[in-house]
Amino acid sequence: MSGAQRPGYKPSASASAKATERQSIFFDIKPDTKNMVRMLPPSDPTGSAFFLKSDHYKLKDAEGNNTAMPCLNIHGEGDCPLCKVTEVLFASGDKEDEALAKNVKASQRHYIQAYVMNRLEEGPKLIGLSPTTADQISDIMVQQEEIGEPMPNDPDKGIWISINRVGSTQFNTRYTVQASSKMDSLDSLRKEWVDEFVTDMVKATRLKVQTPEAMIAAFKKAHGGKVDVDKLLA
Ligand SMILES: [Zn+2]
Repeated sequence: MSGAQRPGYKPSASASAKATERQSIFFDIKPDTKNMVRMLPPSDPTGSAFFLKSDHYKLKDAEGNNTAMPCLNIHGEGDCPLCKVTEVLFASGDKEDEALAKNVKASQRHYIQAYVMNRLEEGPKLIGLSPTTADQISDIMVQQEEIGEPMPNDPDKGIWISINRVGSTQFNTRYTVQASSKMDSLDSLRKEWVDEFVTDMVKATRLKVQTPEAMIAAFKKAHGGKVDVDKLLA
């Protein structure tokens, strides 16, 4: 007896890799890459190209998992307890306190919404940039305005910009942003852009403002063994 078909299909490494690739609205800029991006117009009524997210890191939730929480001075009513804690720790003069303060102090990301070249069909991506990298985009915008040319996030005449990353560690990583001469109207680049456009950045970036009590609890869970939080906040 021959010819019985054996079950299964030819193994494909690329299909397997694709299946497990995380489809995310966020686009991480990988080490040592140049990334051509075409920004979409602002979703912020002020016209700012950036959505600011300011988070405190190195906290632990009730289950003991690492978590980050939005800074209340930026996203809440003010009086952020973790800004107060970091301030007091920085001022103590103790080396360990200072190290802890550096870990917990609020850290800013400026999000842009952009299409990434060769990934258009994935829809717009949110790219989180450090303040200095975001500044470089601002510089390009200022320059474009000065010479009377369209903004990189102009829907009709926006230019592509290249966000380049060199290095992979926290200490050696450098980002540079360059304007290119390549110009595309969003309508011709990807007609779906109007429907794909992310209007609600708070929701898209999963920004969930917590109560001051929850933030203090998360700090205690993570660092309560090292410092007396109640004393710091007193
Ligand atoms: Zn804060």
